[in-house]
Amino acid sequence: MELTPWETPAVIDYKKTMEQFGVKPIADVLDNLKNEHHFFRRNIILGHRDFERIVDAIKNNKEFAVVSGMMPSGKMHFGHKMVVDLLKFYQKYTDNINIPIADLEAYWARNMSFETTKELALNEYITNYIALGLDPEKINVYLQSKYQKVKDLALILSKRTNWSEMKAIYGFKGETNIGHVFAPIVQVADILHPQVDENLNPEPKPVVVPVGIDQDPHIRLTRDIANRAKEFKFIPPSSTYHRFMTGLLGGKMSSSKPETAIFLTDDEKTVKKKIFSAKTGGRETLEEHKKYGGIPEECVVYELFLYHLILDDKELADIYQKCRSGELTCGKCKKMAYEKVVEFLKDLKEKREQAKEIALKILEGKY
Ligand code: SF4
Repeated sequence: MELTPWETPAVIDYKKTMEQFGVKPIADVLDNLKNEHHFFRRNIILGHRDFERIVDAIKNNKEFAVVSGMMPSGKMHFGHKMVVDLLKFYQKYTDNINIPIADLEAYWARNMSFETTKELALNEYITNYIALGLDPEKINVYLQSKYQKVKDLALILSKRTNWSEMKAIYGFKGETNIGHVFAPIVQVADILHPQVDENLNPEPKPVVVPVGIDQDPHIRLTRDIANRAKEFKFIPPSSTYHRFMTGLLGGKMSSSKPETAIFLTDDEKTVKKKIFSAKTGGRETLEEHKKYGGIPEECVVYELFLYHLILDDKELADIYQKCRSGELTCGKCKKMAYEKVVEFLKDLKEKREQAKEIALKILEGKY
């Protein structure tokens, strides 16, 4: 399968894709870290590169950094919430959490103005990130276009790759604008910049980048450039790979198709409509469902429980069993999911009100 960060296929064969690119199963290196987060326990994060370094840093209280870029391209939905949940996990162990806002990439590759990206980043993303529980003291949020350290590093590191490599990794064509070709180098600098000081002197430390598998081309390029730029003594970044949430109707979840996702700002009525129209693993008729049981593995309502709504493993196992046996019907189950989502979003709305001011201060560098 050909993967680029610009297009994600609707269906991904994770096992095959991981094997193809040399991504290793994460279960092998987790040790007892798997008890620390349900994403690890439930195989939602399933692959890694060099995550041993981060496990070691966590276990032995050593320094490490996290980089997780944001591309503000629409409203935040539950798929985006996953990333924040992971950052909340890491903030227990490090206060070096870097969140670049990819306004240069948005300008070059998506034709978005800097003003639009900044406005979306502020009101939609950073506000929700804080409302969801990220500690403003532990994060370094910046606009790529305004962060000199990253821009300087990108200019230097650009020498360590060439057009043939960029074309081979990203499938760029002759008509691609040069900014778009340069965008991945800025991301390389985003990922590596925690390992240099303000004067770009080496300060090597492990860095982890949590991503979807479609972002692996960036990781491969970054690791190659880190190895080539010997003067910086970079430790090649580690990465983890999570599954994508399925869209509510099956297929891809997308900000541009509101019926496929629950947004963090959806009202009760909208949530109800979306959940009750969602694709389930239920049978054609109630009679058949009671007789044969449902298929939670094919159900997006169950996926909501698995990723977000039920953190207690026993409670989740109970739902799984009752679905499988046919005891639990999809109507009841959807009602339960709807109530949980509404309760969560109501609380988040209140927290967002308090987060707005902090988000503005963060973006203005005044926090
Ligand atoms: Fe999905 Fe619940 Fe129906 Fe099972 S009972 S298929 S988990 S909605």
